[in-house]
Amino acid sequence: MGLSRRSLVSGFAAGLGYASLRGTELLARTRAGIFQRGRAPIDLSVVAKINNNENPYGPSEVVVEAMDSAWEWVNRYGTPDGGLRAGIQELHGVERGNILLGAGSGEILDVVGTTFLLGGKKVLGAEPSYGQVYSHARRVGGGAILRPLNPDNTQNIPDLVEVANQHASEIGFVYLCNPNNPTGVVVPEQDVQQLLDGIPADMPVLIDEAYHHFIDDPAYATSIPYVLEGRPVIVTRTFSKIAGLAAMRLGYGVAPAEIIEKMSLFATGSQNVLVKFGGAASLRDLAGQERVKALNIEVREKTIAELRAYGYEVISSQTNFFMVDVKRNVREVAQEFRPFDILVGRPFPPMDQHLRVSVGNADEMRRFMVAFREIFPAAANAAAA
Ligand code: PMP
Repeated sequence: MGLSRRSLVSGFAAGLGYASLRGTELLARTRAGIFQRGRAPIDLSVVAKINNNENPYGPSEVVVEAMDSAWEWVNRYGTPDGGLRAGIQELHGVERGNILLGAGSGEILDVVGTTFLLGGKKVLGAEPSYGQVYSHARRVGGGAILRPLNPDNTQNIPDLVEVANQHASEIGFVYLCNPNNPTGVVVPEQDVQQLLDGIPADMPVLIDEAYHHFIDDPAYATSIPYVLEGRPVIVTRTFSKIAGLAAMRLGYGVAPAEIIEKMSLFATGSQNVLVKFGGAASLRDLAGQERVKALNIEVREKTIAELRAYGYEVISSQTNFFMVDVKRNVREVAQEFRPFDILVGRPFPPMDQHLRVSVGNADEMRRFMVAFREIFPAAANAAAA
């Protein structure tokens, strides 16, 4: 009787005492893990962790099954990728040389910084936005020119264009987070066009589409077509959000081949085989993506409506998080949520009174609202109940 590799693998796992649990079964446990951060352990079966814009549902079953099927490769180098590169190429209509894989899209953001800021150049972008890009710029000896948002929390495109032209020789690249983290606000298609047409033609632009999959605003469009036109645009995507694979670390950048070539000098080129198979499956799993998107929108809009009815202003969001104006310092407010076993927010200067809340599952958001009502009095303009 021929022993299949799979049964050898599961026999080995059983020998180690894992009782050959497969990922699909293990997945049920991921929702109730205990992790240590700082001094106190955090029990995720108790705590609502709605502070890091994660996907509360985890990866879909087909994604986990695809990861399971990759175990047989884990002791090898140069393994198949489960169709990941081909899937990304097909999705965007690009060639192999237009893609750079990273351990999370965060790696690609860092690689862009290292590629274009060495020698002390600066990134130009809005504040607040995804701060990792600006802190990395400083770490590699460059800097950041940060421009305020408009009063309605949109990004001020004419201002960015003006600064890009005035300071062109100092600027290594422009960063546009679309939709923006932490506000959840999109940059409409026309504004992206205005930015790209207004800045010097050879100035690289990093467009971060980490939250692309949650958007339903028709004014938004992906910026991938600019890459196809050959503009110096790098678009990043991640499997951490819609695909629920944050801890598995997979993301990618799409850019003209000569830019990818420069960037790849600074990339690790290392992603684990399990997430490559899972990522490839998630690209094909449109129904799974749709489920997460629909649940996110439903739970987000219900929570926002409740907060508004209670008299608090919330910035309309196109992502899996939103900001509520609590009119108090959010550092203190986040502490007040802790006794309710709720992790929320951190300061995003200069928006120090806006609490960023990630959209958890329905139960987590119900608990968030209970705590919110305890911590905050009904505002004067609350709808009469
Ligand atoms: N870009 C934005 C705007 C983000 O919010 C995040 C993570 N929160 C990332 C990139 C990086 O995510 P990852 O490295 O998990 O792909």
